[in-house]
Amino acid sequence: MPKSDWQAELASSYTRVEDLLAFLELPSLPFASTLKTPFPFRVTADYARRMRKGDACDPLLRQVLPLGEELLSVPGYSADPVGDLDALVLPGLLHKYRGRALLLATPACAIHCRYCFRRDFPYADGAMTRQREAEIISALQADAGVNEVILSGGDPLLLHDERLAALIEAIAAISHIRRLRIHTRLPVVLPSRISDDLIALLRQTRLQCVTVIHANHPAELDRETAVALSRLPAEGGRLLNQSVLLRGVNDNAETLAELSETLFSKGVTPYYLHLLDKAQGTAHFDVPLDEALKIHEELRRLLPGYLVPRLVREEAGKPYKTLV
Ligand SMILES: *Cc1c(COP(=O)(O)O)cnc(C)c1O
Ligand code: SF4
Repeated sequence: MPKSDWQAELASSYTRVEDLLAFLELPSLPFASTLKTPFPFRVTADYARRMRKGDACDPLLRQVLPLGEELLSVPGYSADPVGDLDALVLPGLLHKYRGRALLLATPACAIHCRYCFRRDFPYADGAMTRQREAEIISALQADAGVNEVILSGGDPLLLHDERLAALIEAIAAISHIRRLRIHTRLPVVLPSRISDDLIALLRQTRLQCVTVIHANHPAELDRETAVALSRLPAEGGRLLNQSVLLRGVNDNAETLAELSETLFSKGVTPYYLHLLDKAQGTAHFDVPLDEALKIHEELRRLLPGYLVPRLVREEAGKPYKTLV
């Protein structure tokens, strides 16, 4: 089978820090040897092209560059900060919140964000086999309380079209499921993935589709991203964005206001601004709560209410994401 454009682009991603730093004309910038971290370096060429050359503090670079700080053990930071292991119904299926079940469709991502709370999740045993998928579909079938299935991961849009089509079809065959939500960073980091075939597939299902993308900084959204976003079903506020508040990336109200404005100009409604989940190795991204509250307060001064994302924190065992 010939590789489609997006697969070829994915295959040309940077997997060596040295290569990215050479491209950015920053050959002497220090970084942690990836050999010592369990979460390897990875970034798409598309995303790298939006970084400013020669700028060691570029907010996009900062999201992917493995730093020595990751190796520090900081009190309060753990491998499973949000209680996902306790919410596992089956391998690959999380049920934390009423009505919504979250399916870990694949452990793979196109880019490895250093602040990710899933960086230490036991994904190696998380690969989605057909057997597992069948078990998950049976579990969803048996639970009439679930009306929305969230495809997450990893990045669910890294599944090939045939696989994704089969999965969506199996979910749509369950009569009590109304909505399909897709949590994906690909419209931002690999816009070519939003192909004609994918759009046809999403338009075909009887399920109402909601897409939640993930961008943290306005510089992540370029023209190609805009084209990808314009193709996704957006009517009725069904195209949303979630961000993480990150030290050195977007920890000021002006940047976040520009992010909201840029997203909205491309048809995307700001949804959540997450406080950092305290995953091991991410403490250098933390913005303390009092500062986060000040930034959010300032954001409310700068923007119309509908462009202000909800500031939330995920707490293990809570029935919803906590508004702060
Ligand atoms: C965030 C999350 C959801 C979705 O929560 P919403 O508030 O509906 O966006 C569902 N399941 C899990 C496990 C989650 O972490
Ligand atoms: S799951 Fe999302 S935040 Fe985590 S590494 Fe993958 S793309 Fe980044």
